[in-house]
Amino acid sequence: MDDAKGAMPPVEPMSANRWSGADSEPYPVLAHHLLCAACVRGGCATPPCGRRRIEDLLEVLWSYPHVPLLIRADVDVARAHYLAVHGGGDQRPLPPDFAPRQAAAADRRKDLEVCRLLGIYPNTVLPAYHAYSILFTRLPALDGMCRGLSGNTAMWPECPHAASGCYERVAGAPRPGIREQTARGEDLAGQGIWALIRPRTRAEMRTAKQTSSARIRRTAERLYIRPNHLLCILCTRTAETPLAEDNLVELRQRMEAEPDIPVTLTEGCCMVCDPCNVYHPGEHLCYHAHPKNVLRDLRMLEILGLLPGATLPAREVYRLIFERIPSCRVVCGWGDGSDNAPFWSPCGGWQGTAIQDAREAGFLQRR
Ligand code: SF4
Ligand code: SF4
Ligand code: SF4
Repeated sequence: MDDAKGAMPPVEPMSANRWSGADSEPYPVLAHHLLCAACVRGGCATPPCGRRRIEDLLEVLWSYPHVPLLIRADVDVARAHYLAVHGGGDQRPLPPDFAPRQAAAADRRKDLEVCRLLGIYPNTVLPAYHAYSILFTRLPALDGMCRGLSGNTAMWPECPHAASGCYERVAGAPRPGIREQTARGEDLAGQGIWALIRPRTRAEMRTAKQTSSARIRRTAERLYIRPNHLLCILCTRTAETPLAEDNLVELRQRMEAEPDIPVTLTEGCCMVCDPCNVYHPGEHLCYHAHPKNVLRDLRMLEILGLLPGATLPAREVYRLIFERIPSCRVVCGWGDGSDNAPFWSPCGGWQGTAIQDAREAGFLQRR
């Protein structure tokens, strides 16, 4: 019997754990069990693979948004030679577990469908947050997945929960933007991706905002800013009210007040990130866009002729930016707007004129 909604665990502050280290082993999961986890959060009480298995997976997902998942599909069962399977040849013998593996054809199709939707080769690793971000965008309902392709359920059995709506209750929920996510914090738990991935609490984000913005405004003698955020500061140049979800405005205002304040260019998260709802303070990680933002940092550093850790007066950093970076296109849009995977997508503002506008306005350049 399916409940209206699966019970949610408590939402606690983010901290490091056994799954979160940069060298932690990936958690192996059959690809379609990612769907079953959503189904259980949506109220399914008896997933075919067993409740315990899915609860273990849910616990790991909830413990760390960026847990590396080894997303498995038994594609190699199909490497058995047809003469070894059907007789008549002297090929490599069949593996001892061949018969049950071959018989799991319906589950295998689902595993491969999930890999296809994720755009990954079977048995490769993807962090949990990205796996579910992509899955819920591309598979809001189970048509063609657990609700099969033929209607021939005697030969290709369907899961009894396929038409229950449990999966759709979670995967099909609307996805709020970053501002709403920051405002709602733990209230999001149980909705959409936040049924699998633990949101940051409002209290934690509020405390981080107060502490980090006070430091930027008053006590910091040097600013730590990732190069990509130097451009984001230009994209938000007309904002006067600080944003709840980051410290872009505070950093800009401090540099406007003291254009010669030293700025150290970090590779990775920086003073902008502390209050952000997709920032994991225990791991100092942007789990929403880690590799994409690091690549942007490095593109900028190379163009500016600098290395990670370089320290320059704010005025000088922006002089270099205005001299060498004509627009956001080369950094935020990869030069050509190419969009090779969701976690490499260009930022929506890559065709904007923020750099040109700031250059014309003489941002930090007047003495
Ligand atoms: S309907 Fe599909 S996703 Fe849901 S429990 Fe059954 S097999 Fe898993
Ligand atoms: S286009 Fe996007 S990523 Fe690039 S600077 Fe503007 S807000 Fe930041
Ligand atoms: S954590 Fe990520 S999304 Fe948030 S401010 Fe930092 S880089 Fe931007």
